[in-house]
Amino acid sequence: MIFAAAAAVAVVQATNSDTPPNPPTEEAAALAVGQSGQAQQAAQPIAQSADADAEQPLQPEQQEQTPAQPMDAPDSAEPSDADEPQQSEAVAPVSSSQPPATPEDEQQDPLQGFIVPIAGAHVTEYEGHLPNATRTYRNDGIHEGFDFYEWAARVTIDYNTEILAAKSGVVIRADLDYVDITPADWARFESFWEDGFESDQQAEDVLDELRGRQVWIDHGRGVVTRYAHLSAIAEGIAVGVEVQQGQVIGYPGESGQEEVYDPDKNDIHLHFEIRIGDGWLGQGETPLTARALYLHAFGITED
Ligand SMILES: [Zn+2]
Repeated sequence: MIFAAAAAVAVVQATNSDTPPNPPTEEAAALAVGQSGQAQQAAQPIAQSADADAEQPLQPEQQEQTPAQPMDAPDSAEPSDADEPQQSEAVAPVSSSQPPATPEDEQQDPLQGFIVPIAGAHVTEYEGHLPNATRTYRNDGIHEGFDFYEWAARVTIDYNTEILAAKSGVVIRADLDYVDITPADWARFESFWEDGFESDQQAEDVLDELRGRQVWIDHGRGVVTRYAHLSAIAEGIAVGVEVQQGQVIGYPGESGQEEVYDPDKNDIHLHFEIRIGDGWLGQGETPLTARALYLHAFGITED
């Protein structure tokens, strides 16, 4: 049970880390000064975005591709069409010399050309952090994204760590007026987990609350990245703003999690999702297969 032991140690490290003791609410409040005048805008439904832009519906279960090729053929990517969404196999380079993709860039596979949203972060193999890991307290029991914790990502991840736009796009959600959850909110969540939700919509609403302060970026063609549990949103980020790949959009935290109001605990991490229409990258796959799809999206090859 080496793995289990390592996980247990890791959990201890995650909850007793040496990260700054200042409560995220205070820091968030300080960092949010100047943004408070802007009204929070409701998120635009993903489906709407997908319907508007998706000339070729992307199906996560069809995204299982061959391992990423060396990043030396940026021009060989062919525009995919509705009949053959998988024909492009070239990996878009992540170097700064490559012009950032735009939502209008139809030349690029929409599920490639991303960067890891925290500089230097290792894309963990720890199953609990991967898409489709079980979440017993969730309605559907499934983790829909990728977690970046300091101990697994092997880089510092605290309230000051920069979260980067994984790809160029347009901000469609920025919770500028977010209010942290309270113990009463958490008790409400627990009552649902115990007694069940009254509707799918209610379950979805609670899941959204659990994701805390969020930024969503629309990359076109039904592909959206989500950044959750933020402690703060970067200056200038608001709905409608165009962001470039690598631009700082926010800072990690634990918003939406019970640790946010417990000064003795922390759960600082970035929850990151690549959404495809109403689903997510790797949906229906095993966690490790979903991880492989993320590696492919990031242009990372492993032995
Ligand atoms: Zn997560």
